[in-house]
Amino acid sequence: MRSSLPTITEKMAVASNFPEPDQPLRAMYSALLAAYGTRQWWPADTPFEVILGAFLTQATAWRSVERSIANLRAAGLLTVEGIRTITEEALRKVIRPSGFVMRKAASIKTFVRFLDEHYCGSLEQMAKQTTAVLRPQLLALPGVGPETADAILLYALGHPVFVVDEYFRRVVTRHELLSANARYADMQSLGDRAIASTTREETARHGNELHALIVEVGKQHCGTVPRCEGCPLQPFLP
Ligand code: SF4
Repeated sequence: MRSSLPTITEKMAVASNFPEPDQPLRAMYSALLAAYGTRQWWPADTPFEVILGAFLTQATAWRSVERSIANLRAAGLLTVEGIRTITEEALRKVIRPSGFVMRKAASIKTFVRFLDEHYCGSLEQMAKQTTAVLRPQLLALPGVGPETADAILLYALGHPVFVVDEYFRRVVTRHELLSANARYADMQSLGDRAIASTTREETARHGNELHALIVEVGKQHCGTVPRCEGCPLQPFLP
């Protein structure tokens, strides 16, 4: 990931399709962008690698996911065909660094079966499905909760949805934009409003960017114990 400050062009690219901040989260987004610059997310080379990462990262640190992804790469399994042909038992061994291998191997194999049955094994075909149809389909699969479904929709398939994760939950509740017991849908609605743009592609780009920036501020400042001193979002505290 880059850590340099954004160029003027990058700032203008965001501003050009983005109305003036009319809500706190949009203003916070601008502040994060000014502090950290545009991010390069998700850390993966292909849409299918994004999907594998979305399953593997559940309840697991990304460092462990990277080891599993490296194992999958070494075994030539970072493809739909690779996962289609490997047995579930063998897959468990390859993804062992990520933990919860019984559940994760089963979920990954089921996802590929679903892809084969509904979209002829084609992620391109799946991406063309409407969000309104595809999101419930994904949520009906074992091992796919809202965060995993939305990460697949946004980062692998380019759908304009916002991904809510623990970092986002921490930031918006500590800034009292929502209460601590807010539902995933309420959190997502807040994020969706902040990324709403003039086109589907722009909205997806802002969804990608805002989520990545929230993860960055979460890693640097807003962990289990907040370190507000020097945080780009400190001026927005209530
Ligand atoms: S560390 Fe403090 S200022 Fe920064 S996002 Fe968290 S609560 Fe806000």
